[in-house]
Amino acid sequence: MSIMVPSKTPALITPGRQALDSALHQLHQAAEHLGLDDGLRTMLATPRRSLTVSVPVRREDGHIDVVQGFRVQHNVSRGPAKGGIRFHPATDIHEVTALAMWMTWKCALVGIPYGGAKGGVTVDPTALTTRELERLTRRYVNEILPLIGPEKDIPAPDVGTDEQTMAWIMDTYSVSAGYSVPGVVTGKPTTLGGSLGRTGATSRGVQIATLAALGRSPEGVSVAVQGFGKVGAPAAQYLADAGCKVVAVSDAGGAVYAGSGLDVPRLRAWAEENGGVRGYPHADDLPLDDLLELDVDVLVPAALEGAVTEANAPRVRARLIVEGANGPLTPEADEILSASGTTVVPDILANAGGVIVSYLEWVQNTQAYSWSCDEVEIKLRDLMENAFAEVRALATARGLTLRQAAHAIGVGRVAEAHGMRGLYP
Ligand code: NAD
Repeated sequence: MSIMVPSKTPALITPGRQALDSALHQLHQAAEHLGLDDGLRTMLATPRRSLTVSVPVRREDGHIDVVQGFRVQHNVSRGPAKGGIRFHPATDIHEVTALAMWMTWKCALVGIPYGGAKGGVTVDPTALTTRELERLTRRYVNEILPLIGPEKDIPAPDVGTDEQTMAWIMDTYSVSAGYSVPGVVTGKPTTLGGSLGRTGATSRGVQIATLAALGRSPEGVSVAVQGFGKVGAPAAQYLADAGCKVVAVSDAGGAVYAGSGLDVPRLRAWAEENGGVRGYPHADDLPLDDLLELDVDVLVPAALEGAVTEANAPRVRARLIVEGANGPLTPEADEILSASGTTVVPDILANAGGVIVSYLEWVQNTQAYSWSCDEVEIKLRDLMENAFAEVRALATARGLTLRQAAHAIGVGRVAEAHGMRGLYP
C-alpha cells in the first residue's frame, strides 16, 4: 500500500490542499527516516474519522444561510483526540485534515496523552453578529456532537474562535448531556473551568522556544511577528518582555514597522480600539508581505499556512524562524531556508504551549481542581524545554533539521503506540 495523494489539477489546489500536501510530505520524510512499513504509513496518512456537516444559520434578517463544517480525528492511538476549531472563509476538509495530523505529532512530541483532531467551519466570523455566531456555533456543535466529549475528542480555540466560542460549545454539549461537562473543551473562560495561564500559553511557548533556539541573550535581538491575534500579539509581548526588540508586526489589514522597537502594550491597545495595527501613529506602515523579508534576527510567522513559499523564501533574511502558526512554511520554502543555514523551530514544537496548557486544563477539569498560574507556567516550561532539548539532541546526533527531528520523534511515538496496541481484529 502507499500514501494516496489525489492527482493535482492546478485550479483545484486550494491552500488547504497545499497544507495537506505539506503534512503528507513531512510524514513521508519521517516514515522514511524511521523505516516504517507501507501499511503503517498509509494508516498514519489517513484520518481515523472525518465528518463533514451542513450548518444552517438563521441570519438577523430572517433568511437562512448554510455553511459547511468539519471535524477530523486524525489519530486516537495515544488518547482522546484533541484540536482546535477554526472559523475561516477558506477552511476546507483538506486544511482541517492537515491541522489534525499536525496535532497528532505535536501531542506525541511533547508527551501528552492525546491524539490529534481539528474542526473548522467555512465562514467569515467577522461578517456575523454575535447572535449569529452563537447560533452557528451551537448548531455546528450539535452536528458534530456524536464525535466530541471529554473522553473522546476535546476542541479548543483556533483562528477565528475564542473563549466565548468555547463557552457556547461547553453549554451546548452540557445541555445535551443534562449536566455541566467542563472537560469537553479547553480554552474556556476561567469562570467555567478554564485554566489560569491558558490565554497566553501558545505565545509563552513561542517565547520559550525562541529563547532556547537563540542560545544567547535576547537583549536587543530584533523580531518581526506576522499575525497579531491570539498567538502573535502575546508572543510579541512576551518576546519584548524578555528583552527582544520587536520592530514589526502585521495582521490581515496591514503591517507596521519601527526600527527602534515597538511599544507592544501600546500597540495592542491601539489595535484593539482601531480594529487592527494599520495606521498606528508611532510606527511606519509597511506593505503586508514586506514584513516577512525584513532584515531582522527572528521571524515569527503567527498567522496562517503557506506564508513563506519558494517565491519569497530566498528573500527571507531572518536567521531564526519560530513557527507560531501551523504550517506557515511550504516544504519548498523549508528546503530553501535550511539550505541557506536558517534555523526553523517547527510548528509542532514552537506552538505546542497551547495544547500543553489545554491538557493541564482538562486534567484540572477531570479532577474538579485548579492550579495557580505559577504552577501551570512551571509545568508548561518543563514540557516545552524538555521537548526542545529532545528535538535538538536528535537533530544534532542524526544531522537532521529541527523539523525532521521533531517529526521523527512525534511520528515515531505514534507508530510505537500502534505497534504495542496491535491491529483490531
Ligand atoms: P487569530 O484568529 O486569533 O489570529 C490570526 C491573526 O493572523 C490575526 O491577527 C489576523 O489578522 C492575522 N492574519 C491573517 N492573515 C494574515 C496575513 N496575510 N498577514 C498578516 N496577518 C494575517 O488566530 P490564532 O489563534 O492567533 O492562530 C494563529 C495561528 O496559530 C494559526 O496557524 C493557528 O492554527 C496557530 N495556533 C493557534 C493556537 C491557539 O491556541 N490559538 C495554538 C497553536 C497554534
